Parts: sequence; structure tokens; C-alpha cells
Amino acid sequence: MVVVGGGPCGLAASLRLANNGLRVALIEKGSYHQPRVGEHLPASAMGVLQELGISAICSDATSHLHCAGVVSWWGNEHTPHELDYFYHPFGHGLNLTRPQFDRQFADHVRRQGTLILEHAKIQQLSWTGAAWRIDIVTEEVRCCMETQFVLDASGKSASIARTQASHIIAWDAQIALIRNYHSCAGPINDRTTHIVIEPCEIGWWYFAPLADGQGVCMFITDPDLIDLRKHSIENSWRVVLGKTRAVAPILQSFATMSKPVVCSARSQRLDHFFGDRWLAIGDAAMAFDPLSSQGITKGLRHGWMAGQVVIRYLSGETAAIAHFSQDLEAIFSEYIATRAGYYATEQRWADSLFWRRRHTSTGKR
Ligand SMILES: Cc1cc2nc3c(=O)[nH]c(=O)nc-3n(C[C@H](O)[C@H](O)[C@H](O)COP(=O)(O)OP(=O)(O)OC[C@H]3O[C@@H](n4cnc5c(N)ncnc54)[C@H](O)[C@@H]3O)c2cc1C
Repeated sequence: MVVVGGGPCGLAASLRLANNGLRVALIEKGSYHQPRVGEHLPASAMGVLQELGISAICSDATSHLHCAGVVSWWGNEHTPHELDYFYHPFGHGLNLTRPQFDRQFADHVRRQGTLILEHAKIQQLSWTGAAWRIDIVTEEVRCCMETQFVLDASGKSASIARTQASHIIAWDAQIALIRNYHSCAGPINDRTTHIVIEPCEIGWWYFAPLADGQGVCMFITDPDLIDLRKHSIENSWRVVLGKTRAVAPILQSFATMSKPVVCSARSQRLDHFFGDRWLAIGDAAMAFDPLSSQGITKGLRHGWMAGQVVIRYLSGETAAIAHFSQDLEAIFSEYIATRAGYYATEQRWADSLFWRRRHTSTGKR
């Protein structure tokens, strides 16, 4: 079995396949030392970590911060909504330190028998009539693999699915400006382990404290609403941040560790999730708004479920993939409805382009 993409989704899929006795190769184009986006796992995700048998990876509170909940000024500037994880059966969420989490997870997956090739580039993928043939180049070797099935867990690029005539449908053009901080007051204490969310006229802000006194701050907006030119971006960040009532005061006790980095934060999906002996999962199949804080959990769930589905398919249950794809369709429809409902609850800047787009949009671009 070949899994393409070694994010949370590809790792979870490889683990399940290897646990069921399959020989698995995971092809990762980058490495586990490069920065990765996303850190927050809500309390509801702790059960998934348990199911995958990887809770221990996250149990070291000096590496991954136990998160007490979410404080959000969504729809209201006077009293924040507080989602307190204390009342959830697991009692806390997690703010992961990345790429450390991915590295620990990859080490675990390797120990369970998966061959993980980092810095690996697929040069050619073709169906021979009996199997997929995949030519791969890494920094050390050039090799060729044959496999009966390919899982595309390559994230938003959906790089395998797109070679099989599946197309990405974008729901918006949303971007994120992300910046890392470290606390000037030492390690984060128990009172400040909440995620903070604060909307503004042209988007919304997010702050997550991390273990080891670090933090991540992110501004979500549309690319035509902010000056992203290299010499202006620092000023754009400062001006918009200066208007916040909750996030700016928090950052007063933090110092910047990096310049703002811009990345896509759009919602998207493939027009079809599977084809002959391939299946897309995780962000390759569908990517959610970071507001949901569901991307990593979704990746883990998709990977874990898909591993089992592929085993059923290879043992002769030929409809298994199509049935799984129907589940993915339902998940995406539910996500789009939930997202629209959530944005609808913020009406303070109903004339602003950012909010108008989210209040009136049917989505697809
Ligand atoms: C700004 C932002 C903030 C976010 N914050 C959160 C958060 O707080 N909590 C949360 O749960 N989610 C968050 N998310 C979403 C989350 O990051 C993703 O949903 C999640 O990482 C998806 O996991 P994945 O394994 O499907 O894909 P990815 O994590 O994208 O992994 C894909 C992997 O495939 C590799 N790859 C790509 N192409 C190839 C190729 N051709 N060959 C080999 N390898 C390839 C990549 O290098 C990568 O390692 C955020 C997203 C954004 C944009």
C-alpha cells in the first residue's frame, strides 16, 4: 500500500493499514523539521487520539499545552462566550507544538512497521494494468514501487487526485497571516491556556498559547481586503491588530519570533473523492475554515477510517470505497451548513465585504 502525504491524515491511515498486517510505504515530499500549520485540538478530539493509541505522544505537558477552552468575542463585544473544556469528559483540549507532534507521530508509525520516505518526490505514477507503478526520488535513493491502491493524503494540493481528473472546488479565497510569539513572562500559566477568538470588520483574530512559553497569533481575512505587499505587511498587521480589544492586550506580554507568514485558509473540496484504486482523504478531499478547529481531527479520523475501508476493498468488498465517499459527501454538506450558521451569528459589520461574502455566499467559486 502506498500513502502519499505524511500529515496527520496520511500517518493515521498508514498506522491502521500496518496494524492490519499490510506493507505500507508513506511518501512525504517534505520533512518533520519544517513548520506546519494548526495547533489546536478541542476536547472532543481527545477520544480520537485514544482510538489511534497515540494519547501518550501528547501527554507530556511541557511539549503540548493542555488547553482549558475557548474565549470568543464572536457576535458580542461586551461579554465573551466561554467554552470551558473542564465540563467535557476529557477535561481539556491540546495546543500542539508542531512539527514536534508530527515527528513524534511519524516515529510511532515507523515503529509500527511503515516505511516513511521523507524529501520524496513522485516522478511518475502510472497504472500498468495490474498495479500502480510509482517512480520516486529521495535525497538518497531513486526507487520504484508497485501497489494495488494509492491513498492521496497530500493536503490541499490533492496532488494524486488531480492527476486522475479530479478537480478542486474552492468555496472562498480566504487567507491567514500567521505569526509566532514567545512570552516575556516565562511559561504560560494555568489561567492563560485558553484559545482567544476576536472578530473585526475585515476578518477575525485568533491567539493560541503553546507549551514552553510560546504562542501563535493568526489573522483571517480575504486577500483583497489587506495590503500584503512585502514592504507593507508588517504595517498592515500592526494597524489591524491595534484595533482589537482582546488580542492586542494579550500580545503585550509576548515578543514576536517571526514576520507574518501568509497561507491559504480557504474551504475547498474535490469534485470527486475516489476513482479506480485511489481515494483522497483529509485536506486532499476537503479542507475546512480554521474557525472550525477541526482540520487535524478530521485528518486523523479520515485516515483511520480510510485504512479500514481500503482493507475491506482489497478483500473483495468492492463497494466499500463508494460508500465511504458518500460519508465524505455528508460530512462536507454538514460542514458548509455549520460554517454558514456560525458566520451568520456575527452581524456587527453586516456591510463589510468580508462578512457580506460569508452571509450571502452560496459558496462555490
Ligand atoms: C491557518 C490555518 C490554521 C489552522 N489551524 C488549525 C487548528 O488550530 N486545529 C486544527 O485541527 N486544524 C487547523 N488547521 C487545519 C489543519 O492544518 C489541516 O486540516 C490538517 O493539517 C490536515 O491534515 P492532512 O494530513 O490532511 O494534510 P496536511 O497536514 O496538509 O499534510 C499533507 C502532507 O502531504 C505532503 N505532500 C503534499 N504534496 C505531496 C506530494 N506530491 N508528495 C508527497 N507528499 C506530499 C505535505 O508535505 C504534508 O506533509 C488550520 C489550517 C490553516 C490553513
